[in-house]
Amino acid sequence: MIHDVLPRPLFTDEHTLYRDMVRRFVEAEIVPHHAQWDDDGVVPRALWSKAGETGLLCPTVAEEWGGPGADFLYSAIVIEEMGRVWANGPGFIIHSEMAAPYIETHGTDTQKAAWLPKLVSGEAVVGVAMSEPAAGSDLRGMKTRARQTDDGWVLTGQKVFISNGQLADVFIVAAKTSEGTGVDSVSLFIVEADRPGFRRGKNLAKIGAKAQDTSELFFDGVEIPHGNLLGTAPGKGFSQLMHGLARERLTIAISCIAKAEGALDMTLAYVADRELFGKKLADFQNTQFKLAEVRAEITVGRAMVDQMLALHLQGRLDANAAAAAKLWTTEMLGRTVDTCLQLFGGWGYMWEYPIARAYADARVERIAGGGSEVMKSIIAKAMFREQGIKATF
Ligand SMILES: Cc1cc2nc3c(=O)[nH]c(=O)nc-3n(C[C@H](O)[C@H](O)[C@H](O)COP(=O)(O)OP(=O)(O)OC[C@H]3O[C@@H](n4cnc5c(N)ncnc54)[C@H](O)[C@@H]3O)c2cc1C
Repeated sequence: MIHDVLPRPLFTDEHTLYRDMVRRFVEAEIVPHHAQWDDDGVVPRALWSKAGETGLLCPTVAEEWGGPGADFLYSAIVIEEMGRVWANGPGFIIHSEMAAPYIETHGTDTQKAAWLPKLVSGEAVVGVAMSEPAAGSDLRGMKTRARQTDDGWVLTGQKVFISNGQLADVFIVAAKTSEGTGVDSVSLFIVEADRPGFRRGKNLAKIGAKAQDTSELFFDGVEIPHGNLLGTAPGKGFSQLMHGLARERLTIAISCIAKAEGALDMTLAYVADRELFGKKLADFQNTQFKLAEVRAEITVGRAMVDQMLALHLQGRLDANAAAAAKLWTTEMLGRTVDTCLQLFGGWGYMWEYPIARAYADARVERIAGGGSEVMKSIIAKAMFREQGIKATF
């Protein structure tokens, strides 16, 4: 296993104990089964309950809502330990770091009491349903609509690419609640999967992250009560979305650094063993230099991400800085898996080799959660604004 080049002073002895526990869980309950789950296209539902019992879900949810009330470093530990072994099937990160925070941050006390304890224990699994066939980066183009009635809302539309789509018991769903594309035109709803009119579509066949159930969802006149509007007033969807962006992007950045370490780890083991032209692959200077470059990038990325972790703990990480981290770490991961796979030669192209899966899995990081182009656009806008440069975007 790779050891950190730089110390990580944010993490205390208690964090290390938690990391050891998470690592044991991942090694025992996830690693031996993951290849089978890749073939199945989904992980077993029971894994969620086990993860909840062990304390892996929603580490930061406050004690008053049934959580451990831990700091975000505990979340980072789960993300890193899953990333290190490329455990992309279980959608714990979407559940704990993207969906649950919507409820905890914006939900009413009734909504928090109804859902957060179940999300912590794994009794309920949650997904986030924003993207649509014709609206991903450009969410203002979404077509799903919620019409207000005396009893609540009626939801009609379609979502696509939704992680945890086959397993989730409940979704945070974005829908238009007024005409136009203004900032107040979208609201978020808590939608239970057992409501009449709700239907799961296909578990989509992907080139990577195959054990993750990524699905279409259909809403055909789904009636939901007033109490399922997230928060108390409609029209807050975009501001609720914006609020969580720094944490979401930091989460992806943390994961990418850990995944790059995992890819380096498997490649070091391979080059130490593989023989060609009468010597080890590790003896070639090309191998040494390529892997040194990978390690240098991981060291730089880890230093950046740890600094952002520190800022996030102080509530000072802004979405633009986190966009830079998402952009750089996802692109770095793409370079890393490509370099590593090359050193495996033809074996690297074989699905049975973890580096082949890593190569395929890594590709999505530059697309989901806001593509690299979206990150560049955000960074450029902020920089030009700061410099007083007028430009069209
Ligand atoms: C495996 C997977 C899991 C996902 N999980 C979820 C989920 O759980 N919930 C959810 O709601 N969504 C999810 N998504 C959807 C994901 O967030 C979208 O795919 C992403 O936002 C891009 O949207 P799009 O696919 O519609 O591409 P488009 O929006 O059509 O983008 C096409 C290309 O244009 C680029 N682009 C965008 N804006 C600009 C610009 N201003 N200038 C230049 N180029 C630009 C994009 O980066 C991309 O390269 C998931 C996607 C995948 C693949």
